[in-house]
Amino acid sequence: EARGLTKHFPVHGGLRRGRVVRAVEDVSLALPEGTVTAVVGESGSGKSTLSRLLTRLTAPTAGELLLDGEPVGGSARARRAYAGQVHLVLQDPFSSLNAVHSIRYHLRRPLKLHHGLRGSELDAHAAQLLERVSLTPAERYLDKFPHELSGGQRQRVAIARGLAVRPRVLLADEPVSMLDVSIRLGVLNLLDELRERERLAILYVTHDIASARYLADTVVVMYAGQVVESGPAVQVTDAPAHPYTRLLLSAAPDPHRREPVVLRGRGAPPSLIDPPSGCRFHPRCPLAMPVCAETAPPVRPAAGDQVAACWLLDPERAPGTTPA
Ligand code: SF4
Ligand code: MG
Repeated sequence: EARGLTKHFPVHGGLRRGRVVRAVEDVSLALPEGTVTAVVGESGSGKSTLSRLLTRLTAPTAGELLLDGEPVGGSARARRAYAGQVHLVLQDPFSSLNAVHSIRYHLRRPLKLHHGLRGSELDAHAAQLLERVSLTPAERYLDKFPHELSGGQRQRVAIARGLAVRPRVLLADEPVSMLDVSIRLGVLNLLDELRERERLAILYVTHDIASARYLADTVVVMYAGQVVESGPAVQVTDAPAHPYTRLLLSAAPDPHRREPVVLRGRGAPPSLIDPPSGCRFHPRCPLAMPVCAETAPPVRPAAGDQVAACWLLDPERAPGTTPA
């Protein structure tokens, strides 16, 4: 669970001192076991910074992390324990595997380091890991090198290596965006199997709201470092409460797009050094009202567990306006 996570990066070489990039502001979310939570946003929305904060690779400016309701400690021991529970799967499976080592080596290493396995145990466990990510028969893959596998197979190996540590939480940052369209679904289905069969808590970070709807139980939409809407995936994608979520959904899904989505025609995401006043989305929002530029909207309930930060949800601020 993350509570109020905030990350401001100092700006180096800026003209004025003391300027910061407000990459993540006051983000709270829970990752229950056996569920997939998707964080959706354009590039520059803060979603990758958020996933790094959740791995503790980056220290937050404010906010805290909890595991099983207990604050995560800062001692070296607590850090090691945390690293064993929370594993990050990266976007590019090629760069995360070492070209000079076989798949067997990649899988044996964490088994040795984290679980002290030796000799034949190591190979048996390595083979099991490959079976868990549906690379079977394992013998066909163990002595291969990363370049001998397809992108999808490499991402499966990277996930298998993560599983070797026996994490309870998998953080997958754009795990399929570098893969060919034809194999993306297989990797998403693998994540779904791991959620179901192994009860992992999965955070799926993506710019693609359609895939978030496909895979996730809960969708969290980020804009300019802030959560603008969250709730059950079907609810958020069928009846979005925030104009930005509607814009994301209307951006034609293009399965052949490899680049992070940029919503054309309505301007670009704002600078996070001097973000817009009030609602950060107001310069791009087709429904903006005067209040939007002045005061940041509070997070309000929309329907059921769905919440959004938008003045349209305030009947007093938006008289006669109903979210379409
Ligand atoms: Fe648009 Fe105003 Fe809602 Fe922001 S608060 S999304 S500017 S209507
Ligand atoms: Mg990113």
